[in-house]
Amino acid sequence: MKFIATAASAALLASFAINAAEPKGEPMPSQTIDRAGAQPSAKGPAEYFTGNVRVDPLFPANESAPYSGGYVTFEPGARSNWHTHPTGQHLIVTHGVGRTQEWGGPIVEVRAGDHIWCPPGVKHWHGASPTTAMTHIALSGTRDGKNVEWMEKVTEEQYSK
Ligand code: MN
Repeated sequence: MKFIATAASAALLASFAINAAEPKGEPMPSQTIDRAGAQPSAKGPAEYFTGNVRVDPLFPANESAPYSGGYVTFEPGARSNWHTHPTGQHLIVTHGVGRTQEWGGPIVEVRAGDHIWCPPGVKHWHGASPTTAMTHIALSGTRDGKNVEWMEKVTEEQYSK
């Protein structure tokens, strides 16, 4: 029988070619794009933060990449409570001047471009400097649906050291 290449059969052949590259049974998932402005900014809750803090979510954890991402912006003097992360946290400072501290250690100044790795279970806080705002991207690993264990507030005395 003579094969007649119609538009429909060409489309069918093309779909076979695509399917041949896929693992058996499962169609390949597509990329997704979260558009700027699609996720509203949120205020950092007073229960977990001191001062004015804004959280701009980037993405939630998923099954194959179990970490979430978001921007956190601290106004001057604002900071997180003391806390730990079950699988650790990367912080990338994108704007301004801030501070971070491990329990028992000195306060360390951080600036735009700095990257901080906080290992699992290390008690710490992060925030702005007293006079300058700070924004960082936080990449937080998730275990059993949790990416942080919140603790007590950072007192004025602790922050001002
Ligand atoms: Mn942290």
